[in-house]
Amino acid sequence: MSVGPLSQKIFARAKTLIPGGVNSPVRAFKNVDGDPFFVRRAKGSRIEDIDGKHYIDYIGSWGPNILGHAPIPVTNAIHEAAKDGISYGIPNLGEVEMAQKIIDWVPSVEKVRMTNSGTEATMSCVRLARGFTGRDKIIKFEGHYHGHVDSLLVSAGSGALTLGEPDSAGVPKSFAAETITLPYNQPEKLEEAFAQYGEQIAAVITESYPANAGLIFPRAGFLQLMRDLTRKHGALLIFDEVMTGFRLAKGGVQELEGFTADLVAMGKVIGGGLPVGAFGGRADIMDHLAPVGPVYQAGTLSGNPLAMVAGLTQLRELEHNNGFVHLDQLGAHFEQGLTSVLSAKGIPHRLNRVGSMFCLYFLDEEIVNVETVQKQDFDVFKKLFWGCLEEGIYLAPSLYETGFISMAHSIEDLDETIEVIEKVVSKW
Ligand code: PMP
Repeated sequence: MSVGPLSQKIFARAKTLIPGGVNSPVRAFKNVDGDPFFVRRAKGSRIEDIDGKHYIDYIGSWGPNILGHAPIPVTNAIHEAAKDGISYGIPNLGEVEMAQKIIDWVPSVEKVRMTNSGTEATMSCVRLARGFTGRDKIIKFEGHYHGHVDSLLVSAGSGALTLGEPDSAGVPKSFAAETITLPYNQPEKLEEAFAQYGEQIAAVITESYPANAGLIFPRAGFLQLMRDLTRKHGALLIFDEVMTGFRLAKGGVQELEGFTADLVAMGKVIGGGLPVGAFGGRADIMDHLAPVGPVYQAGTLSGNPLAMVAGLTQLRELEHNNGFVHLDQLGAHFEQGLTSVLSAKGIPHRLNRVGSMFCLYFLDEEIVNVETVQKQDFDVFKKLFWGCLEEGIYLAPSLYETGFISMAHSIEDLDETIEVIEKVVSKW
């Protein structure tokens, strides 16, 4: 199956102008052996493509659109704020209000700085951890994606995993040599790494719930082991909550797990769909940043007034509408419906879900790390993806991505999706 004729025509043109025709690799549909559609407009849970076809969307701009597409309070707030100026490069009140909101909501954040993307947030956390500890080595986990930061693009997830290029060309070997990559959920490997390099390790960085190789959960005690070993060896623990922060709970996975990191990288939902990231943590660490400290970090558009207002409005809407509880209810409804349909058909599967994040695996065993994820039959996923797209359901075009439900999804949307999946799998 392919997308509509206008999308095909424009994609052909895009490929002559933009590498691969896209501004971010996963959008190219390479993992499902096809070409993407082009969007015309999106509202609520729905997207319309330029050929006029409608889809129920389970990507939500890869996470930020937790209220759905173009929520009126957010579009109004952006419109009003733009009248007073689009960017100043001068301190504005929105930055202070956003900082206050993040500090109020997120455990362990005593001071915070805004960036323009999740990549900048994780990159800045790593630099700050190195500057603070005076050490160079970083531990990361296989299949965890932290943006396209040189030293973190080693055995990464998401697009890097999709394209089979875990180590990007252009990353000097000497940079990658400072990154120790370990399999996830294997405590003995973490212990060994600290036993061998303990004195040299600046930080452990982990996705709070890994969501770039599907959706994987930490086994009991694994997060605590990271916490204990980093403390014992004078290293920092960096929690990457770019995906999970403000999506699962006010305080993200730290709140869910009753856990505190030293530094937290954030993004996606806090920007309300505009380009935003943030990083924060213990005040004594954060005060190593310029202009007070020696670690340099900056941004022409960081703390942009439209982005602050869009993000703050989105967070307030979530709070006022009891968002995290409602999203979990929608997620539970979807999980129950979908698993009963697949079980009735005798299709081996695992649906990993937390709140409004989900990933369907065609494999019936505990998903522990990337190795387990890669055991499944990718052709089956491709059939599901194209079958759903044809019927107007837009799932992520890669088995390695997590799906998102938004506040704009109705029970009817979810039921329609389950019916479509049932129809698609019945043809197998
Ligand atoms: N960390 C995680 C966990 C992510 O999922 C992503 C992006 N999907 C990033 C960092 C990078 O964020 P951005 O794409 O905004 O640079």
